Amino acid sequence: MKTLLPTSTAGSLPKPSWLAQPETLWSPWKLQDDGLIEGKQDALRLALDDQQQAGIDIVSDGEQTRQHFVTTFIEHLDGVDFETRKTVRIRDRYDASVPTVIGAVTRPKPVFVKDARFLRQQTDRPIKWALPGPMTMIDTLYDDHYKSREKLAFEFAKILNEEARELEAVGVDIIQFDEPAFNVFFDEVNDWGVAALERAIEGLTCETAVHICYGYGIKANTDWKKTLGSEWRQYEEAFPKLQTSNIDIISLECHNSHVPMDLIELIRGKKVMVGAIDVANEQIETPQEVADTLRKALQFVDADKLYPSTNCGMAPLPRHVARGKLKALSAGAEIVRREISA
Ligand code: ZN
Repeated sequence: MKTLLPTSTAGSLPKPSWLAQPETLWSPWKLQDDGLIEGKQDALRLALDDQQQAGIDIVSDGEQTRQHFVTTFIEHLDGVDFETRKTVRIRDRYDASVPTVIGAVTRPKPVFVKDARFLRQQTDRPIKWALPGPMTMIDTLYDDHYKSREKLAFEFAKILNEEARELEAVGVDIIQFDEPAFNVFFDEVNDWGVAALERAIEGLTCETAVHICYGYGIKANTDWKKTLGSEWRQYEEAFPKLQTSNIDIISLECHNSHVPMDLIELIRGKKVMVGAIDVANEQIETPQEVADTLRKALQFVDADKLYPSTNCGMAPLPRHVARGKLKALSAGAEIVRREISA
């Protein structure tokens, strides 16, 4: 990346109200059939336009073609029955009715490759594509086939690797795996979680990232955050293993969180996407607030490895708020860029 402090988002952006109910997760589509395909592409172009107008350097599809960051990928796989549902505890935090793994999981055809090719055609900027991580995938399912979280995670890692290789082939520059589960299941992260992630990136030559956060600004997450005390040290558990892994970039929640910034020292040498925008409130940060967060992070990340970003996806926010936050991110990064080059 030639730009100093290249900006990006963690992933999702709000969808237009003609495509899906705004400010809602899992919102059903308002269009059908060919109209839906066209509507998703139009929304992708608008999401891209919002990012480009705000001056975001590494752009994405804003996840306009998916209903949910994990479920939409799984819906395209064989071996998972969406009719047979069981209630499980997701990320040890809230109960949800989830689909069941009933046989060997496979990917009969590419999931997002067409969408990624479409995005590639729309822009010359570097593009980042998000996929769910293996551990987060298994955590949203009931497994009635493999009966082993580790085994199922490696099966998903194999499938994710197939998808990632095809995304790379159509010109994706950074492939990101979303692993909020890495902030919860520390023993598993160290036993096999990071290894499964490395299986997912095997053989890739594009850059790879892992996004680890404290979740969208939904009630289950904000209630959970209240129980975490004044210092959130969860990252401390996974960082040593990630530091020695093959993953290039680590995407983190930093702004307004209680994560002690010095934990980033534990991944020294990695590129770090520093979340400088809070996605859990509608207040738009000032460029100065963004700059403050980036300056703090610069104590622990070399400037050429710091990628200003958002704490998490912005799907549940009103569109004008998300646009404002994109602009603040861009302007805040520019302040720090000038300070560094002065
Ligand atoms: Zn996130």
